[in-house]
Amino acid sequence: MEAISNQQWIYTSRPDGLVGPANYQLRSALLAPDLAADEVLVQTRWLSVDPYMRINQSSKATWMAPHPIGVVQSGAAVVQVLSSASADFATGDFALAHTGWQTHAKVHTSALSKLDAATAPVQTALGVLGMPGRTAWFGFTEALQPKPIQVLVVSGAAGAVGSLVVQFARLAGVRVLAIAGSAQKCAWLKTLGAEWALNYKDFTDADALQAAIYACCKGVDMYFDNVGGMVSDAVLPLINRRARVVICGQISQYSDGLDAPLPGPRFLHHVLYQRATIQGILARDWLHRVDEFQAAVAPLVANGKIEFAEHVIQGFMQLPNALSEMFTSQHTGKVLVQV
Ligand code: NAP
Repeated sequence: MEAISNQQWIYTSRPDGLVGPANYQLRSALLAPDLAADEVLVQTRWLSVDPYMRINQSSKATWMAPHPIGVVQSGAAVVQVLSSASADFATGDFALAHTGWQTHAKVHTSALSKLDAATAPVQTALGVLGMPGRTAWFGFTEALQPKPIQVLVVSGAAGAVGSLVVQFARLAGVRVLAIAGSAQKCAWLKTLGAEWALNYKDFTDADALQAAIYACCKGVDMYFDNVGGMVSDAVLPLINRRARVVICGQISQYSDGLDAPLPGPRFLHHVLYQRATIQGILARDWLHRVDEFQAAVAPLVANGKIEFAEHVIQGFMQLPNALSEMFTSQHTGKVLVQV
């Protein structure tokens, strides 16, 4: 086999505000086809685009060190084996890898998780059966400690994580108020089982949104927060006694509130009054329980009890734009780039 021309998106500068093509450069590098023992040569088929990528572009350390400049943008991918020096992988096999924004890579098989294309579409390993699904499942079933009939508010409800939380809640008999950024998303969320759905963009400030939330459900027993900002300012004063608040994401702050936090209403006194619990969660803390997650959620997907929306953008060249669009509300469900 001849050397392969490997296209790579290099992360070249920290964004000041919204991330986009200006922060990336396309590079072509030759990849020699020779393989060491237990290595495989893979071609990227699907790439995951995730909000955490912008967190990782902050100059400040978070749960991980800032993404280095001048290297391939990191990220999860579904790859297909082109050639193999391993008894465990054959040409044509699919696997989950963390090879980032490049069209090809040589990978040691210890860094791959094999995927069975016959059981589920392979790209679901990046969405409903992957990191976002795991976050939604354990964030809902464990961190929130859900109780039937109680009221759960989900922000960012039409996204990869939020739309699954809404459905897990429906299956658990929880009453859901979903908050998302368009009338169309709200209509869809009602078909998924939300009792109420509000478009936060219909409200000019947190007080107006809060009045609308109150009109729906009066008080809030659980809050699964993906966005923070104005939406949380509206929700948190409405928490009930012993409320559980899960901080999954704060996407409203990622473009301009990571390096210098944005001031906002201070709500912790409500936590005191209501003896509420706030917990931050990270998908990686449940990595050791992937099998348990798969056993619970894969059947729900297979028998149609869970709907998973995918927003598929075609073409490797679109990656920087796809990441930018995460922050401008242009999609529903899991954002994927098909290479
Ligand atoms: P997503 O919800 O599919 O996509 C992001 C959505 O956020 C956008 O479609 C947009 O929807 C909304 N949004 C963007 N800017 C906003 C703003 N300024 N105010 C309010 N909403 C805004 O993404 P996801 O992958 O499911 O992630 C959702 C959240 O969970 C993110 O905060 C992410 O960082 C977090 N997350 C955390 C973990 C973890 O381990 N803790 C794992 C996965 C994801 P609208 O149309 O509704 O505005």
